[in-house]
Amino acid sequence: MRVLQHRGQESAGIAVYNNGIKALKGMGLAHQALRADDLHNLKGETGIGHVRYSTVGSSSPENAQPVVMSTNYGDIALAHNGEIVNGDQLRDGLKKKGWAFATTSDSEIIIRMLANDISNTGDPVRSVKNVMASLIGSYSITLMVDSRVFALRDPLGIRPLCVGRTKGGYAAASESVVFDTLGGEFMRDVEPGELVELLPGEIRSTKTGLARGKAHCMFEWVYIARADSCLDGHLVYDVRRRIGQCLAREQPVDADVIVPVPDSGRSHSMGYAETSGIPYSEGLMKNRYVERTFIMPEQNDRTTSVMLKLNPLKSVIKDKRIVLVDDSIVRGTTMRQIVQLVRNAGAKEVHVRIGSPPIRMPCYFGIDMKTRDQFAATGRTVEDIARMLTADSLGYISIDGLVDAIGHSASDLCLGCLTGEYPLPVEGEKVRFQKKLDSFA
Ligand code: SF4
Repeated sequence: MRVLQHRGQESAGIAVYNNGIKALKGMGLAHQALRADDLHNLKGETGIGHVRYSTVGSSSPENAQPVVMSTNYGDIALAHNGEIVNGDQLRDGLKKKGWAFATTSDSEIIIRMLANDISNTGDPVRSVKNVMASLIGSYSITLMVDSRVFALRDPLGIRPLCVGRTKGGYAAASESVVFDTLGGEFMRDVEPGELVELLPGEIRSTKTGLARGKAHCMFEWVYIARADSCLDGHLVYDVRRRIGQCLAREQPVDADVIVPVPDSGRSHSMGYAETSGIPYSEGLMKNRYVERTFIMPEQNDRTTSVMLKLNPLKSVIKDKRIVLVDDSIVRGTTMRQIVQLVRNAGAKEVHVRIGSPPIRMPCYFGIDMKTRDQFAATGRTVEDIARMLTADSLGYISIDGLVDAIGHSASDLCLGCLTGEYPLPVEGEKVRFQKKLDSFA
């Protein structure tokens, strides 16, 4: 779980089967949430784990996952990455039928529907298909039904999910890096709309028939996933380098040194340096013990953490024209602070280059970017944003450039937060591909 800690830092949990499903959960990073003594006593042949980054439901102990329930059929545990767009409608409909809910998380809706369906059908595979047919949204899920372990991915494959071999058998994970670090072997991505069961000697695949093309989240390659993970056939590090190369071609600048914003802008900076010929230098030192700021739920935590997290190296920065490269600008508050840190360290000029196009629209599929007015790019030109950041210049990669760098066609990606056109129906929003991509430039 610590290998995937970058995907969620609010709570962590693990559920194993040992004569019934037993779970341990707690708040904080995995090593804080799960005490070594308790883990030592939690024995089981099969299990699932989760680190939480909240988008729906508060950051609180009752929303920690895996969610576990007991049914007539047996115990069920579920760990979910993503967001159910029609969660409120499903919850309201079920409440009217007399169902009760203990948490505000959309994952509870899924497990309650599954628990109810499995009690009726006695067939977990059939019940997963039945429940998936009612869900609209993004979901990569690991599921235990007693000792049986399943993994399933939403019909558009919005969030990542893959399977591989481990020493003891098979496992599913959000990112392939899990198999590298556990001495296992990555096998393949789970297909959109696919359900797999991890058995002792095989991975059994069921196509639910619900797949509707692809809409992989572009932000996984830009920021969320680890650079050493391979998602849907494309190594994140390679994509970020290509983004940096494209950014250097599209947004050149006369400067002395490229400084990455660590760690998120590092691979993008390498690409920018390769294409521009400007030297790359680590001008900002990072305190590794401060958590990822973007996925912190509170703005105050994020603001304080930037100052704790980064320290400028004056010998690299003083009297130089700096190109500061990062993956994205969402609210702009972090980047403004970083620009000021670099200025205070004596930079002559600060030019900001960003590896994703301006984010102007909310995400409804699992990233906590919910209201338009929080975005730096809402209602501002690039020059306005540069002024807000106190930067000498600002340049973003184009949407076409980003799509090329990822290596999937635009129709296989979700670009909703860039274009405002979404791969799934969302109340009050447009469904994608009503316009050509270059009309969003
Ligand atoms: S809206 Fe943006 S962040 Fe959300 S899934 Fe789509 S591309 Fe990813």
